[in-house]
Amino acid sequence: MTDLQAVLDSIHKELAPRIGEGKVADYIPELAKVDPNQFGLSVVTVDGKVYNVGNADVPFSIQSISKVFMLTLALGKVGEGLWKRVGREPSGSAFNSIVQLEHEQGIPRNPFINAGAIAVTDVVMAGHAPREAIGELLRFVRYLADDESISIDDRVAKSETQTGYRNAALANFMRSYRNLDHPVDYVLGVYFHQCALSMTCEQLAKAGLFLAARGSNPMTGHSVVSPKRARRINALMLTCGHYDGSGDFAYHVGLPGKSGVGGGIFAVAPGIASIAAWSPGLNKVGNSQLGAVALEMLAARTGWSVFGD
Ligand code: GLN
Repeated sequence: MTDLQAVLDSIHKELAPRIGEGKVADYIPELAKVDPNQFGLSVVTVDGKVYNVGNADVPFSIQSISKVFMLTLALGKVGEGLWKRVGREPSGSAFNSIVQLEHEQGIPRNPFINAGAIAVTDVVMAGHAPREAIGELLRFVRYLADDESISIDDRVAKSETQTGYRNAALANFMRSYRNLDHPVDYVLGVYFHQCALSMTCEQLAKAGLFLAARGSNPMTGHSVVSPKRARRINALMLTCGHYDGSGDFAYHVGLPGKSGVGGGIFAVAPGIASIAAWSPGLNKVGNSQLGAVALEMLAARTGWSVFGD
């Protein structure tokens, strides 16, 4: 049996001189203020054991990792009908690309690029006022992690509302193709709030544990989705979870994962554990630089890659 705490400690020790690498996201002014010299890693195994190292208890802005939770809600609501609104192929483009959306006539390539996530949010909003949709997501994440202290950072949401011109362009574009049912301002309001969810590595790993455990959270006993749906969400994370860095992440880490520009990465070792890494400095495609390195080390030292050990 691998001593997981020793593995985490050794990763932290080896990476310590590199903490601060990469560049924090500055297109959202509130994120530009985050101290880059932070690193956290948390692993929660399917038998309910929690392993932490570094700043695993510091809340950060989960940003695009929230797209996994919204996707889960949307699939619960409309099932496979979701795929009329959004595709399932890797984009090979930046997360906020506009060109591809025009080319594909307002149907985003997958649910994890921004356009796709905005369409997914629109689906979850059906029958709800925007405030209720945000409440539904917050309650869902708290239920998944069994932690009522999880909250939304309103300053981050406001900061992105004031500067989210590109997302506004994507949303308007989709609305023009009738792929948004709600007013653009409403959909973006919900989207910016979901991205502003603030969670620690440990909370994130716990919230996503159901994806490592055939759709049920073994810590709470809650059944969240069917095993088939969990498998499919993992497949989407593996192929699309890191935008135009998805191939590279699969090559180096070999786990389904989802990144966010807050510097977090959520990853799943199916049947074994869920993992959250965080370090605010990003690489060129907007994924956490050290987070990815830490996950590569973890996968190598545990043999958890889905492609074999
Ligand atoms: N809120 C961010 C945006 O829409 C999320 C992007 C990300 O985390 N990759 O730009």
